[in-house]
Amino acid sequence: MKGMKSRDTTSSMISEQIVSRGIKDPSVLKTMAQVPRQRFVPVELREHSFSDHPLGIGYNQTISQPYIVALMTFALDLKDSMSVLEVGTGSGYQTAILAELSAKVYTIERIPELSEKACSILQSLCYDNIFYKVSDGSVGWTEHAPFDRIIVTAGASQIPGPLIDQLNMNGILIIPVGSKANQILYRLTKTESNSSRKYGLKIDKLTNCVFVPLVGQYA
Ligand code: SAM
Repeated sequence: MKGMKSRDTTSSMISEQIVSRGIKDPSVLKTMAQVPRQRFVPVELREHSFSDHPLGIGYNQTISQPYIVALMTFALDLKDSMSVLEVGTGSGYQTAILAELSAKVYTIERIPELSEKACSILQSLCYDNIFYKVSDGSVGWTEHAPFDRIIVTAGASQIPGPLIDQLNMNGILIIPVGSKANQILYRLTKTESNSSRKYGLKIDKLTNCVFVPLVGQYA
């Protein structure tokens, strides 16, 4: 990367965009320091890899803003024994961070070219605990369910029912929900039910956000 010292820029990104906004979890910060964000950014935009906003990755899709990646990762409260479903592989950057902090990551992308590109970058970085699928992730991935954690990295107009069904008890789903121009990032925790329902849901609002739309049957 001509003219860019990646180590310096990664540490500035972490201190100025992530720690300054209140995320201080050592495992999240350490992982974001280790994963080379610039590898997931198209060559022509690489000098902006550590900027405080999303970047285009082609096909009208984006690699998420570093702070949003950190916030979603922190909110997932990952453990290294966990199985995680990611809906929206995109560039694969968030996928790498999930793979560092959990046992297995099942990632679904609807655009084949993005899935193939992310897979090739992630394999070149030697991740062997990631499983890829090109499909509509709003229906989940029944063969590998239930999951301890589910993360949706595209904005839904409603919470896809199959994703809640495929979440383990006490599992966490992070998902942006709202209109195309304005969404709220939610953390949903699946809890034991104290009524006739099969389960309860604890709902926390994390922040306002704008993601590209989730496109699919339950989106
Ligand atoms: N976290 C990703 C990253 O850091 O690169 C950003 C993902 S981008 C904001 C959202 C992705 O979700 C896009 O690549 C889009 O094609 C994908 N997507 C949208 N709807 C989907 C669906 N139903 N199933 C799977 N992927 C979907």
